[in-house]
Amino acid sequence: MNTIITKEIKTSLPVGDGILKTVRAGQFKPDIVRVVLDLEKIVDFSAFVLDNPARLVIDVYGTEKKMKKPEATITKRRIVIDAGHGGHDPGAIGPRGLYEKNVVLDIALKLKEILLTDPANEVFLTRETDIFIPLEERTVIANNKSADLFVSIHANASPRRKARGVETYLLNWTNDEEAMRVAARENAISLKRMKEQMEKYKSDLDIILSDLRRENKRDESIKLAHYIQKSIVSTLNSDYKNILDLGVKQALFYVLFGAKMPSILVEVSFISNPEEEKLLSNDSYRLQIAKAIAAGLNTYVTSTPATQKVAGL
Ligand SMILES: [Zn+2]
Repeated sequence: MNTIITKEIKTSLPVGDGILKTVRAGQFKPDIVRVVLDLEKIVDFSAFVLDNPARLVIDVYGTEKKMKKPEATITKRRIVIDAGHGGHDPGAIGPRGLYEKNVVLDIALKLKEILLTDPANEVFLTRETDIFIPLEERTVIANNKSADLFVSIHANASPRRKARGVETYLLNWTNDEEAMRVAARENAISLKRMKEQMEKYKSDLDIILSDLRRENKRDESIKLAHYIQKSIVSTLNSDYKNILDLGVKQALFYVLFGAKMPSILVEVSFISNPEEEKLLSNDSYRLQIAKAIAAGLNTYVTSTPATQKVAGL
């Protein structure tokens, strides 16, 4: 309701990817726009509303494309790394002016390089340059790549300048005010608005989350989060003192909605804390974080039977 199609918007969009034929939109009534998805063959779908800007996201899932691989080829694991923010969205900004978007991109690029030293890894970045990508498109990239793992990298911020440490998140409900505040900031909406949204779309979110539980993705995400969290804290503490372990937490991050694989979001340190901002501006600190994430991923992969990984595809 209260929607109008502007002239700039194409009313028919051919897709033809084997799942969707076309997407059409029409001014159904003066204040109602109807969007029609012409389907080829779908297995499942989910729909949810996101804020700032207001948008309806509809994910349609088809059957997995079975790629023919020569038998001798080792099954590669596909890892999608997401550097938070970018372009017009700087993310959090430190007291000395350090931008989260630049720090996390650098860590993501370093991580990619480290992971690629293992021929069993295939690595994709959602962005490799300073460009803006909407949150919901980031998991779409991971789903389209049939990724086995999704890791979103961020730097934390708090109005409390003393707040510091490392924490890793997975997607779930939370009553924890701090965790909600972190997710609201990463979702680029206010805490108040986020609480309203959680209330309003509770049933839709319940469906998304129960799917995750049913498909075992939640347990795998918890495991992945713990390995990465532990690895970062112990790696950093061997070179730098007093890195605070804030643990594994859960909250509703838009960027993790709709991911079809184990997926986590890591807040590598607080850019709002003057000491941690200084560390984050340091190349060797970023490299240590990248190495630690790679080591955590590796521990996860080696602890997970190959059959399970294939089953997740
Ligand atoms: Zn962020």
